[in-house]
Amino acid sequence: MIIISGAGISGLSLGLTCHQLGIPFQIFEKSQKIKPLGVGINIQPTAVRELAAMGLLNELEATGVKTRELAFFTKLGLEIWSEPRGLEAGYDFPQFSIHRGELQMLLYRTLINRCGTDTIKLGYEVIKSQTKQNKVHVSIMDNAGKLSEISGDLCIAADGINSVLRRQLYPGEGPPLWKGVILWRGTSKSKPFRSGATMAMIGHATQRIVAYPISTPDRKGNVIINWICERKSEDTKLIQENNWNKSVKFNKFLPYFETWSYDWFDFPNMVRSSNTVLEYPMVDRNPVDNWVDGLTLLIGDAAHPTYPTGSNGGTQAILDARSLGKALIEYGSTKTALHHFQEQTLKSSNSVVLASRKSGPDTILQIVEERCGGMFETLDSVISQQELSKHSANFKSLVGLSVTQFNKQSSLLGAYL
Ligand SMILES: Cc1cc2nc3c(=O)[nH]c(=O)nc-3n(C[C@H](O)[C@H](O)[C@H](O)COP(=O)(O)OP(=O)(O)OC[C@H]3O[C@@H](n4cnc5c(N)ncnc54)[C@H](O)[C@@H]3O)c2cc1C
Repeated sequence: MIIISGAGISGLSLGLTCHQLGIPFQIFEKSQKIKPLGVGINIQPTAVRELAAMGLLNELEATGVKTRELAFFTKLGLEIWSEPRGLEAGYDFPQFSIHRGELQMLLYRTLINRCGTDTIKLGYEVIKSQTKQNKVHVSIMDNAGKLSEISGDLCIAADGINSVLRRQLYPGEGPPLWKGVILWRGTSKSKPFRSGATMAMIGHATQRIVAYPISTPDRKGNVIINWICERKSEDTKLIQENNWNKSVKFNKFLPYFETWSYDWFDFPNMVRSSNTVLEYPMVDRNPVDNWVDGLTLLIGDAAHPTYPTGSNGGTQAILDARSLGKALIEYGSTKTALHHFQEQTLKSSNSVVLASRKSGPDTILQIVEERCGGMFETLDSVISQQELSKHSANFKSLVGLSVTQFNKQSSLLGAYL
C-alpha cells in the first residue's frame, strides 16, 4: 500500500492515478475538511493532458477558462509582447486558468466518488516516517492529539511547501526563503478584457500585476478575474509566515497601484470590488539533489516549491503524480521506483525553480522598464521582436512546452491505461 501525506493537488492526483492503475493507497490530510481555498492557478497543457487521461476534461471545461493569450505590458499599460496559449497556440490540449480551490474540490469529489470516502482520512496529520527493512512506518496524529502508526510499502510526502517529511530529510533547512516580495491576491467580478481569456502581466521586477479570468461570462457578461499585485519590500522582516489565507485591507497595497489604470483595464477599480484580499510572501526553497528518504519520497511543493512567476506549481504537482504512477507500474511499489522517478524529474524541476527565481517568462518586463521606464513611441526602438521571441522560447523549452514536441507525445500513462 502507498501512504500519501496531503490531499492537495499532488496528493489527490496521485490518489486518482493509483486508483487508475489498481495500486492500493491511503491519503492522510491534516485539515478536517477540504474547502475550496486559494485563488487562481494556471494548468499548462502538459498537465491538462494528464487530467484528461484521468477523465476530467469535461469537468475542467465546466469549471475553468481555456486561456487564449499571455500578454505583457509596461506599468503604463503599453503592450510589449503577446502570444497565443493552449489550443490557440496549436497545442492539442488547452491551458486552463482555474480557481485552485475548485480544482482541488474537483479532484477530491472525483476521488471519493470513484474510491469511497474512506480513501482520504481527514483531520490526520502525518508526523514522521521511518523505513525498517522493506516497510515504511508512518506516525499519524488525529484531531484529538492521539498518535497511531500505519505501515505501508511506500510513503509519499505530498504535504506542500511546509512539508514535515522534507524537514525530516533536511532537518537544518529552516523555513521557506523570502527575498522581500509580497503578493496580494484576490478575485473580482468585472467585464473581461482583451480576448476575454487573456493572462496579463503588467509592470516590472519590483512592482507587478498579474490578472486573468477564471470563469466564463455570466448573464450580465461579467467574469471572475483573478488578480495578484506583487511588490518588493526593502524590509525583509515585514512578513515571515507563509500562510495562504491571511487577509488584509486594501490600503496595505492599493496606494502603490492607484495610477495603474488603462483604457483597456481599470485595475484599481476592479480590485476595490473584491471581498477579500489575501497577503502572501513570495517564497520558495533552494533546490535539493535528493527527494528519497528510505521508502519515503517528496513530490509537488514538498520537493520543489517554486515562485509562481512561470505559472507552474500546479502543473508540476500533477505531472509528478503521473510520472510517479508510471514508475510504480514499471518498477512496483519499491525503492527503485522512487529513485527512477527522481532520476526522471529532479533535474528539470530544479531548473524550473531556478528559472522562476529569475522572473520566468516575464524577464522582458524588467528589460523594457530599464531601457525606457515603461514609456515608448515605438516598441522597436526599445527591444526587437527577435529578442522578445527568444525570451519566450527559452522558458517554454525549459518547462516542456514546445508545441511540436508536445503534440507528438501522449499521456505519461498512455501505454498502461
Ligand atoms: C490552502 C492553500 C491555498 C493555496 N492557494 C494558492 C493560490 O491561490 N495560488 C497558487 O498558485 N497556489 C496556491 N497554493 C499552492 C498550490 O496548491 C501548490 O503550489 C501546488 O498546487 C502544489 O501542490 P501540492 O499538492 O504539492 O501542495 P499543496 O496544494 O500545498 O497541498 C499540500 C496539502 O498537504 C496538507 N498537509 C500539510 N502538512 C501535512 C501533514 N503533516 N499531514 C497531512 N497533510 C498535510 C495540506 O493541508 C494540503 O492540503 C495553495 C496551497 C494551499 C495549501
